[in-house]
Amino acid sequence: MPIAQARPLALALACLSSISHAQNIDFQTIEIQTVKIADGLYVLMGGPAQGNILVSTGSDGILLVDSMYAPMHQKIMDAIAKISRQPIRYVVNTHLHGDHTAGNEAMAKLGAVIISHENMRKRMAEGQNGGPPGALPTITYTDSMTLRFNGEEIYIYHPEPAHTDGDSILYFRHANVMHVGDVPSSLRYPNIGVTDGGSVDGMIAAAKQVMKIANPETKIIPGHLGPVVGFKEIQQQLDMFGVVRERVMSAIRAGKTLQEVVASRPTADFDQGRMGGAITPDRFVTLVYQDLSRKK
Ligand SMILES: [Zn+2]
Repeated sequence: MPIAQARPLALALACLSSISHAQNIDFQTIEIQTVKIADGLYVLMGGPAQGNILVSTGSDGILLVDSMYAPMHQKIMDAIAKISRQPIRYVVNTHLHGDHTAGNEAMAKLGAVIISHENMRKRMAEGQNGGPPGALPTITYTDSMTLRFNGEEIYIYHPEPAHTDGDSILYFRHANVMHVGDVPSSLRYPNIGVTDGGSVDGMIAAAKQVMKIANPETKIIPGHLGPVVGFKEIQQQLDMFGVVRERVMSAIRAGKTLQEVVASRPTADFDQGRMGGAITPDRFVTLVYQDLSRKK
């Protein structure tokens, strides 16, 4: 791709977490792919920023994990119609960001009950999700909760502040399937909700905790890029986080500015295989710097 074309794209992607992000997306061209990963469990993948929705279908109805952006609603409904005609009973949000929650309102209008961590609802009620509060969660929890649905025992827990301070991770115990939201999992540079209570160390701790609660056979669904990863990818992401954290932290201690640290390309040896996500290496380094410079 010529540089003149590549640059605006990189800039558009760099502001992924900002309010303007949804306006930069060409929703028309986005096509949802449906991947069955277990009986009654499907990943709808390929949403904005390669986002994923997990669908549980069965005799109790439909449960969704995340709702993408509002303009994706009809595409999501069309994809669901191909796997089930049951009503959508629940939407569980993994966290606050608009690419995971902005579709809540349309789902709530169809009768879905929205579930989230208490902190997510609080920030959303204050308009911190980058849009109108829309349909706020009506069921919240603080540490963990269990939902029995479609014959599953769905363990929903809060991994302490990680990607944000209101993250939820869902573990479908019988199917051995986990949805980890934007905690480090798929090979990419993840967004870090540095202004939403998230942190580098929290993300590292949450990924380690996932590997304690899950097992090597667990099908792990990431918030972005999928459909499924395993411990191998999480370990690779932990290795990358550990090294980049140390590099950026020592540069901060040596008095380097954000511009100097970004220019030194502290992720360079990890870039291969991680360029398929929406967050550029420069954006990732910026987020790591912003977080770590608060605690040096
Ligand atoms: Zn996010």
